[in-house]
Amino acid sequence: MQSYLNGFYPGDPEIAPLDPSLPAPSSGLPDEVDVLIVGSGPAGLVLAAQLAAFPGIRTRIVERRAGPLQMGQADGIACRSVEMFDAFGFSERLLREACWVNETVFWKPDSADRSRIARSGRIQDVEDGLSEFPHVILNQARVQDFLLEVMRKSPTRLEPDYGLEVTSLEIAAGGAYPVTVSLRDVEAGTARTVAARYVIGCDGARSTVRASIGRALAGDSANQAWGVMDVLAVTDYPDIRFKSLIQSADSGNMLIIPREGGHLVRLYIEMDELDPGERVASRTITSDDVIATAKRIMHPYAFDVRDIVWWSVYEIGQRLTDGFDDVPAELAGERMPRVFVAGDACHTHSPKAGQGMNVSMQDAFNLGWKLAAVLEGRSPQSLLQTYSEERHAVAQRLIDFDREWAAMISARPTDPENGDGAGVDPAALQRHFEQQGRFTAGVATRYAPALLTGSRDWQDLAPGFPVGERFHSVPVVRIGDAKPMHLGHVAEADGRWRLYAFADGVDPRDPASRLSALCAFLARSEQSPVRRFTPTGADVDAVFDLRAVLQVDHTRIDPSGLPSLLVPRKGRFGLIDYEKAFAPNGRAEDAFAIRGVDRENGCLVVVRPDQYVAHVLPLDAHAELAEFFARFMVSPGG
Ligand code: FAD
Repeated sequence: MQSYLNGFYPGDPEIAPLDPSLPAPSSGLPDEVDVLIVGSGPAGLVLAAQLAAFPGIRTRIVERRAGPLQMGQADGIACRSVEMFDAFGFSERLLREACWVNETVFWKPDSADRSRIARSGRIQDVEDGLSEFPHVILNQARVQDFLLEVMRKSPTRLEPDYGLEVTSLEIAAGGAYPVTVSLRDVEAGTARTVAARYVIGCDGARSTVRASIGRALAGDSANQAWGVMDVLAVTDYPDIRFKSLIQSADSGNMLIIPREGGHLVRLYIEMDELDPGERVASRTITSDDVIATAKRIMHPYAFDVRDIVWWSVYEIGQRLTDGFDDVPAELAGERMPRVFVAGDACHTHSPKAGQGMNVSMQDAFNLGWKLAAVLEGRSPQSLLQTYSEERHAVAQRLIDFDREWAAMISARPTDPENGDGAGVDPAALQRHFEQQGRFTAGVATRYAPALLTGSRDWQDLAPGFPVGERFHSVPVVRIGDAKPMHLGHVAEADGRWRLYAFADGVDPRDPASRLSALCAFLARSEQSPVRRFTPTGADVDAVFDLRAVLQVDHTRIDPSGLPSLLVPRKGRFGLIDYEKAFAPNGRAEDAFAIRGVDRENGCLVVVRPDQYVAHVLPLDAHAELAEFFARFMVSPGG
C-alpha cells in the first residue's frame, strides 16, 4: 500500500487522513443523501465500503438490526471474492482466519454393504492456476466485520445507522433528490423520511425496496427440505476436516464443510421431501431430527454432537427478478434508474454451491464504481443502466447452474451393480463438481460485448486476459524496488481504471517503442482519455492508473529511463511514484508466457474499477482507446 504522499502522519497508515476541504464525516442520518443503501448484509457493506472511499459523495447505510451481525449464514468464500477483498485491503487477514478448502472428498454407498458409506473420490478443490487465492470458509459475520473496518478507516468514516427499517419509498419524476424513503425507528417506533438521489436495496430476499419498485422474485421451489447446522462434534469419520459430499443409499445426502478455527463443522443435510406448494415451516423439523438424519447418512461412523452453534431448516428454491432497477423494460433508455436492488433482493438460490454471498458482493462491486463515476460527474447517468444488464445475465446463469446442482445433490445414488440405474451416478456427480470449478470459484463471469466491454478483435494479443472476464493476475517484479508481487494486487477498490500496458519487443527507451508512444499519447494528446477525463489539479493517475510490464530484467533499467507517465510526480510535494513499472520475474514462465501476451507487439489491457477486463487493444490503437472511453465518460464540468 502507498501512504504519506501529502505528508507523514503517525499511527495506522491505513486510516485515511481527513481532507480539510471536504465536509467532516457526520454521524446520524441527514435529511438528504446522495446514496442510501438499505441493508448491511454482504451486498450492502461491499457497496458502502466502495462508496466510503469518495468523500464528496454523501452515502448512508441503514440497517434494521440493532448492531453488527454476530452470526451469519453464508460461509463459503470463492476465490473471486478473495481477489476483490484484496482490493479492499483485507485478503491477508481473512486468509489467516479462514479455513482453506484444499481438497474435496466424495463418499457413496459401499458396494459390498450399501448400508455403509465408503470414500469414492478425492479431488483438488480449485484447479491449479485458476486464481492466486484459495477457496476459503469464514463466517459471513466476520466478512462483514472486515468491510465495516474498511468503512471506518475510509475518508468518510462511514458507519451504518442501525435500528432503522425502510418501510416504503416513492420516486418523483424530477428534482435533485427524487427518491423519498420512509423509515421507522425500530426501537422508538417513530417514523421519518430521507430524500436520496439513489437508493440501493440490499435488503435481502424479502426486500422492501424491491416491492416498492414493483419488482417480484419469480421462480420455483424444489420441494425439498434441508437442514443446516454448525456444530462442535466428536467423530471417527476420517474426512471431517475436508469438504465432503456424502451420498447414502437410503438416508439421503449430506455436505460437510469444515469451518474456521479447526473444530467447527457445517453440515447440510437432506431432510423430507415436501408436497408441491408446501412450506418447510409446516413440518416441525427439530435439531434432533437433523442430527439423527446426519447420523444415519454417516453410518458406520459415529457422530456425537457436543454443541449446536446454529441451525436452521430451509427449502431449496431458485428465484429471480426480471430487472435490477426501477425502470420497466418498456421505458429502458428513456428513463434513468434511481433505485436498484442487489444480492438476495434480486436473486435467491440454494446455499450448497456457496454462491449467494459471493454473487451478492459482486453485484455491489459492479454498481459501486458506476455510482461514484456518475455522482462525481465523470460519467452520464446512462452508465447506471449497465448494472441491471450485466448482473441480471450473471444471476440467470447462477439460477440455471444452481437448479441443476441442487437437483443432483438431492438425488439418490444409482446402484448399477444391482440393476438400479435411477438417481445420480456418484462418478457423474464428482465429474460435474470438477467441471463447474470455474463457476463455483466465481471466475466464470464473462460480460458480453456492450458499452463497457470492447470487441474481441485483438484478443489474440493476450488470450490469457479474456475480454469481459475478471483480470487474472500474474506474478511480476516491481522495477522501483525489485519487489516480487502480483500485478493485479496494485488494484485498489478506489473506482479507478487500470491500464496495464504489456511492452512490445522494442526497448522502451528507444523512440520506436510502441509502449513509449502510448505513454506520449496518454500524456500529451488532446484525444488522450487521461487528459480529457482527469480533473484539473488532480494527480495524473486519479482516474486512469497506467502500469507497464516491460520485457527487460529489472536490473537492466532504472526508473529515470522510463516515460514520464510511468514515474509520475504526484501530490502536494510533487513526489515521484516508483510503483508503476514492472519487469518479468526472471522465470521462463513469466507474465507474458503465462497469459500468452504477444512479445513482439505487446498490448494494452484495459481493466474496469471492479477488476473486469474491458478491452484488449494494440499499444498503438490510440484512436480506439480514445473512442472506447468517450462512450461513457464526460470531461470534468462538461
Ligand atoms: P442479506 O445477507 O440477507 O442482508 C440483508 C440485510 O438487510 C440484513 O442485514 C437485514 O437485516 C437488512 N434488512 C432487511 N430489510 C430491511 C429493511 N426494510 N430496512 C433496513 N434493513 C433491512 N451464500 C454463500 O455465498 N455461501 C454460503 O456458504 C452460504 N450459505 C448459506 C447458508 C444458509 C443457511 C443460508 C440461508 C444462506 C446461505 N448463503 C450462502 C446465502 C447468503 O447468506 C446470502 O446470499 C447473502 O447473505 C445475501 O446477502 P445480501 O447482502 O444480499 O442479503
